[in-house]
Amino acid sequence: MTSDIKPPKTILCPACGSPDVTAEKKERTISVPYGPAAEFLETVYTCNACGTDGDFANENDVVVNKALALSRNESAKLMLQKMTEGPGEFTLAYIERALRLPSGLLKLWKMGLLSNTALSLLRIVYTFPWLLQVSDANFQPEITSKICQSYLRRFTEDQVATIVEPVDVYPTPPAK
Ligand SMILES: [Zn+2]
Repeated sequence: MTSDIKPPKTILCPACGSPDVTAEKKERTISVPYGPAAEFLETVYTCNACGTDGDFANENDVVVNKALALSRNESAKLMLQKMTEGPGEFTLAYIERALRLPSGLLKLWKMGLLSNTALSLLRIVYTFPWLLQVSDANFQPEITSKICQSYLRRFTEDQVATIVEPVDVYPTPPAK
């Protein structure tokens, strides 16, 4: 019978090769545009021999990507919620029609089931919701111009766009 027990993995300092390293877990957060901050535990190794520190075991990419995925999927849900739940805002069906998307697709997006291309499109129409009306009008130049002017007038009068919120958190690159 063979044993499945592996010897404990020895982490060596990549600079000097010393096995005398200590690991520290640090709480971090990361987010994507319009997404909430997602928490993750970053592991930072420090070599007690030469002082070098970093992700010696390449553990952080996995947890960072997991946190990014959480923020990303939640961002899709939040954008669609804000676009459709405010007074006088759009319905999912309208957005699907305006963008020529298959019926029911936005329900999947709301669950985080969307490609990066779809996420880019969603961010653009969330930031500039009048583009939905432009697309709905089949990009006819005169109508596009009117929608654009009307939006810009409203924007300058109110100093705020209807559902645009400033992005206050940009993703922080993970420490290497
Ligand atoms: Zn070292």
